[in-house]
Amino acid sequence: MNKIKIYLNKGKEASLGRLHPWVFSGAIGRIDGEVKEGDIVYVFSSRGEELGLGHYANGSIAVRMLSFIIGEDINEDFWFDRLSLALRLRLSCKLLRISSTDSKNNIYRLVHGEGDQLPGLVIDIYGQTAVVQAHSMGMHKNRETIARALMSVYEDQCGDGVLTAVYYKSQGTLPTKEQRDLCSDGFLIGQSEQEVVYENGLKFLPDWLRGQKTGFFIDQRDNRSLVEYYSEGRKVLNAFCYTGGFSLYALRGGAEQVDSLDSSSKAMFLTEEHVKLNFGDACPRHRSITQDAFDFLDTMPENEYNLIILDPPAFAKHRKVLRNALIGYRKINTKAFEKIASGGILFTFSCSQAVSKEDFRLAVFSAAAATRRHVRILHQLTQPLDHPVSIYHPEGEYLKGLVLQVD
Ligand code: SAH
Repeated sequence: MNKIKIYLNKGKEASLGRLHPWVFSGAIGRIDGEVKEGDIVYVFSSRGEELGLGHYANGSIAVRMLSFIIGEDINEDFWFDRLSLALRLRLSCKLLRISSTDSKNNIYRLVHGEGDQLPGLVIDIYGQTAVVQAHSMGMHKNRETIARALMSVYEDQCGDGVLTAVYYKSQGTLPTKEQRDLCSDGFLIGQSEQEVVYENGLKFLPDWLRGQKTGFFIDQRDNRSLVEYYSEGRKVLNAFCYTGGFSLYALRGGAEQVDSLDSSSKAMFLTEEHVKLNFGDACPRHRSITQDAFDFLDTMPENEYNLIILDPPAFAKHRKVLRNALIGYRKINTKAFEKIASGGILFTFSCSQAVSKEDFRLAVFSAAAATRRHVRILHQLTQPLDHPVSIYHPEGEYLKGLVLQVD
């Protein structure tokens, strides 16, 4: 098969020289060969120097680089090696803890796109099931090979029976509607039922078939532990709670009262299921509130809570709506600063990739200033180690959080 070659415009090779994994469509001078979405393409400088290879896409990011090693092939060995590297990182950082203690953990992200040198691919592990999500046609086309490689990597590094099923879930994540319509979700290997899985010893029942993302927000694991640390004796509001992760940690941490709030009744149902699973059928310390968070924050009385968590959905999915997103962050944070009791702690987050750390701080700090309260930074938070950021792809750092003491 003939190699499809992409020649960059003069001067456009600098970012690949710095190992940044994206080629923008505007950087492309000429394409030799007939290219289709998801094809492997070989990238060259304007002077004809080979730079590496990647998956082609029709969007503004035209190539997602898979390798900068000249002569490397994208074959079974490639997938095996990349997935092995990803698993080895998680094992060496002692993320998987299977023994039955308070720290039992078998929910983690195995592949975080560019952070694991696999742009366009996300793999989350829930107990014995892997949920594979493709964000590019290149990864979609390779889904069967990836699933097989995944099973071999686990057999090789963890032994038989640790991973038994691979579920494919990309209907919501492929770039265009046409691609999404053609994609069907389902098991690529094995079969599994929804099972109880553990995060730091707490039980969860993620629904990878119907849930948001791959079924659970794994990226808040470490930040949830910090909520547990601060919760003793506090009255907690967990706004935008989804499956109630932060609430469970607050309850285990000894909170006097935990109110979980989400506008989705499905989310509130899942939160209640999780509270029951961990704290029994009656948990008088927990209350569920199904309401819009903006309305609730507007009308809730002052001094009701002394620990508030604000973890909204990505207000800005792309830079075009950045201004509105910042207004949204400013609004909810202003309300929290106005109402939180003196000595209260605010955990506030943004998971919008388009919102920079500086933009987010500015929105939160100007919200605080508008209320004239004395506010100090206790912690600056980000995503955990199973969502690694390649130093060559700083855009991969998307989760930003601040823990603020409000006097
Ligand atoms: N904190 C969660 C993840 C939050 S995801 C966790 O740790 O798992 C964002 C959640 O915000 C979703 O569940 C969504 O239903 C909810 N949401 C979106 N807009 C909302 C609004 N205006 N008011 C309340 N909840 C909202």
